[in-house]
Amino acid sequence: MAESKKKFIFVTGGVVSSLGKGVAAASIGVLLKARGMRVTMLKFDPYINIDPGTMSPYQHGEVYVTDDGAETDLDLGHYERFLDVNMSQKNNATTGQIYNTVITRERRGDYLGKTVQVIPHITNEIKRRIYAVVRDGEKDYDVAIVEVGGTIGDIESLPFLEAIRQFCLEVGPENSCNIHLTLVPYIKAAGELKTKPTQHSVMKLREIGIQANALLCRCEYRLNKELREKIGLFCNVPSRSVIEARDVKSIYEIPLVFEKEGLGEFLSNHLRLEAGEPDLVEWQNLVQRLGKPSKTVVIGICGKYVNLHDSYKSIIEAFKHAGVANDAKVELRWIDSEEIESKQSADILAGLSGLLICPGFGSRGIEGKIMAAQYVREKKIPFLGICLGMQCAVIEFARNVCGLKGANSAEFNDEAEHKVIDLMETQVDVSQMGGTMRLGAYKCNIDPNSNTYQAYGEEVISERHRHRYEFNNEYIERLTSRGLKIVGVNPDTGLVEIVEHRDHPWFVGVQFHPELKSRILHAHPLFREFVRAALEHASSAENGHVSKETQKNKKGAISS
Ligand code: GLN
Repeated sequence: MAESKKKFIFVTGGVVSSLGKGVAAASIGVLLKARGMRVTMLKFDPYINIDPGTMSPYQHGEVYVTDDGAETDLDLGHYERFLDVNMSQKNNATTGQIYNTVITRERRGDYLGKTVQVIPHITNEIKRRIYAVVRDGEKDYDVAIVEVGGTIGDIESLPFLEAIRQFCLEVGPENSCNIHLTLVPYIKAAGELKTKPTQHSVMKLREIGIQANALLCRCEYRLNKELREKIGLFCNVPSRSVIEARDVKSIYEIPLVFEKEGLGEFLSNHLRLEAGEPDLVEWQNLVQRLGKPSKTVVIGICGKYVNLHDSYKSIIEAFKHAGVANDAKVELRWIDSEEIESKQSADILAGLSGLLICPGFGSRGIEGKIMAAQYVREKKIPFLGICLGMQCAVIEFARNVCGLKGANSAEFNDEAEHKVIDLMETQVDVSQMGGTMRLGAYKCNIDPNSNTYQAYGEEVISERHRHRYEFNNEYIERLTSRGLKIVGVNPDTGLVEIVEHRDHPWFVGVQFHPELKSRILHAHPLFREFVRAALEHASSAENGHVSKETQKNKKGAISS
């Protein structure tokens, strides 16, 4: 079973959660990719849910959807954004999935009368998934980076750690590496960085039978030579592999910090990689551009969870990518849609150069979102509506332009007079909650006469979905005759995927989630062009002529 030439890196976390294990794991991937390695990732989540699809955003943050329709942990978003590769359902596994597999086999009689136990049956299934990820169909990888969710000491993660211990023994020390992310806190009263929590965390790991090979030490201040030696001595790690992971302004700086700290070289030596010299020029340029934008643009982001930014992780990152592509800093102004309901739209939305309405579920704050969509349509402010955001824009248009006063989505009012957004047929009989939405990548044909086409430069695109409701095609005629443009349609089902407004410089609503495909080295075309339109709006507003002029400028625009 053992894979001799494949290399496996395990990333665990200690002391506290939220140290950025996902970003650290993705950054390690960047260092290896820069050395010519083919890298894949695997995230283990020690909870019992089959996937995060049924969890509240308060519990889990964003649900990241892959091309093949898996609802996964948001760390997979970091992996895709940093490594510029597509993940699939094989790249994320939960305790629930692993038990489900084992129990299904047990019911089938596969275990031939044996008692089914955590060791070896659950641990074997965990190991099987690690081996499977490096040889995924036609895809063959050199290195798998395996991140274990949670913190050392959690009961839930024990089977994963036991499986990793066995795995390292099977593949041998030159083919496996354990990296532990830890915290070295600064204690104000003592005026010092303290190493004890790290010592205890590594000790706990050793008790389980795993010896850390390198430590990534999150800290606010410099980790001097003395401290590195002390940590190294007590944790049984050479001091050169005690890596300082000091706080940085942007997560995209982290691969460069790790490289400078010697982590790439350490991994090359430890794993005896046949690796070339690292090529990180693109990252260096990128980080430089990220740090010195020549202009700023203010864009409103309207959603339900304005204080829970993890719910909109990919959107926030997509704006950073689009900022780099436009040499601009995108300043996001968070807008609570419920607040719009109790005040005037203008009081809250004035001064924005663009507005994004977020995806979401449930009726809370919907009327505020609809009011916001009306405001930016009338004021000719650039708009991007994602999924629910697009649906709100359609409802607004039906009500206020087409005179369909009772227009709504069946999600919010099943008795609505005009269900311009309705449950699709395939969803009518669905009774299970988990994994039953329209999920994953679908094709879409784009009308060449549209802002969307100008952004993509392609007539057929593929984007990821996660929703139950759809534009109701019975209303196509009534809405398009008043100026709604349907510019994106699914070629197989005829479902409407993208709408625009005829009399607006840049108003795009998409039923899919473009944010899931934005990468730091390749900003998503819609986000890039949305930010560009917002910059244009800002400069024409400064010059005192907004709407007509913006429209004129737009006609001659080319996508970068
Ligand atoms: N609640 C809407 C639906 O299910 C939109 C979902 C979303 O924004 N992801 O269709």
